[in-house]
Amino acid sequence: MHNKSLSELSTSLHNGEFSSVELTQHYLDRIAAHNSSLNAFITVTADSALEQARLADVRLQQKTAGTLTGIALAHKDIFCTQGIRTSCASKMLDNFIAPYNATVVEKLNAAGMVTLGKTNMDEFAMGSSNETSFYGVVKNPWDTDRVPGGSSGGSAAAMAARLAPIATGTDTGGSIRQPASLCNLTGLKPTYGRISRYGMIAFASSLDQAGPMANSAEDAALLLNEMAGFDPRDSTSVERDVPDYTASLTASLQGLRIGLPKEFFGEGLDPDVATTIEAAIKTYESLGATVKEISLPNSHLSVPTYYVVAPAECSSNLSRMDGVRFGHRCDDPKDLLDLYQRSRGEGFGEEVKRRIMIGTYALSAGYYDAYYLKAQQCRRLISDDFKQAFNDVDVIMGPTAPTTAFNLGEKNDDPVAMYLADIYTISTNLAGLPGMSIPAGFVNGLPVGLQIIGNYFDEARLLNVAHRYQQATDWHQQTPADFK
Ligand code: GLN
Repeated sequence: MHNKSLSELSTSLHNGEFSSVELTQHYLDRIAAHNSSLNAFITVTADSALEQARLADVRLQQKTAGTLTGIALAHKDIFCTQGIRTSCASKMLDNFIAPYNATVVEKLNAAGMVTLGKTNMDEFAMGSSNETSFYGVVKNPWDTDRVPGGSSGGSAAAMAARLAPIATGTDTGGSIRQPASLCNLTGLKPTYGRISRYGMIAFASSLDQAGPMANSAEDAALLLNEMAGFDPRDSTSVERDVPDYTASLTASLQGLRIGLPKEFFGEGLDPDVATTIEAAIKTYESLGATVKEISLPNSHLSVPTYYVVAPAECSSNLSRMDGVRFGHRCDDPKDLLDLYQRSRGEGFGEEVKRRIMIGTYALSAGYYDAYYLKAQQCRRLISDDFKQAFNDVDVIMGPTAPTTAFNLGEKNDDPVAMYLADIYTISTNLAGLPGMSIPAGFVNGLPVGLQIIGNYFDEARLLNVAHRYQQATDWHQQTPADFK
């Protein structure tokens, strides 16, 4: 059951080959067998999952079911789930039971999907290795001594080990694409504004975007169909029709113009990863695409720009966690200041504190112009580079990450080395563009992801470009040996 695509699962459910309760139980059994070695889930919601599955089975019997009705999924623990702990992998929210559903959760519930549980992540989505979680590190199913990537590392590990048939993630600087790359998944970060952020705990509001983490582009398209759309409760969501993302999956790639930014193939890129990406590009040429070198001349500004903008926004967003309204509160505060200081001091982990301090500094009077304003100007230059590039090409391709999965603990003492794991993904968020990572091969048994970046609201094209490659290759069907 766990190697079927979403459309195969849907057909089986609609034909009565197995019920949603049976499917859900199958995944709950796999989670029970494997989660202890991976730590992919923070919370498993077995009882409510089986209840949702029973209701889905009624819809299936009554022939009122949609394509995804009865199919199980895992949510990153950043989405508010009513009545279920929503921790953002922080001690700060360890006791937080969300009183409402995020729009994404609401939409997928309405589609009849079954929530298996909440997946582990870097604390407040800050990280590239899933090592900053209050609930402990997540391990990569391809090699459990290595990181799954982050911050959506729990969703990625759960998917790679087939503990869920599909999962949600969020991407502020690469957190869907980079773990997808490290775990051999198809991950899509849509255009900023395509999916509602309502009820998705904010990290950096101008960069955050939700998206699917899937086994194939076809599966990602099916989930995106349900996740996307305008939401009056999110003022940054865009009022624009949602196309059927499965409709153009098989369109020909004849004449597709691919741009390869020379800045994505320079120093810092592992040579074996580079060779793997070059082979993938060759496959695209054989599918009828043309390739040309392009330049994104301000690429070198993306990491420093991001590490001013994202901390600035997070320092503001996280100020609501003050021990007063919700979340962790210290024992016996002696006054209000003590309450704030100790609640926050105890509740947040080291990386989150580092970001809050950087952000507060960058926003403070006297430094604002030198850092925050300057970063906003650089952000514009980065966006303009893409705008220029899309005059000549349809999609941009390159590696998702500079290396394959690194060892647990390897970059813990060097935050800057960790920040460089997102060197190729961050500029997309700064520009608000959609980006994907798809499986493109292996180096020493570890997955390599090909990144595909598209123009605004061009998700359908990205999915088409990914799907055609997946029809021509079988990298995306490979699964780790210990989790068959
Ligand atoms: N790794 C980046 C960071 O630590 C991006 C995280 C994300 O996309 N949520 O901020």
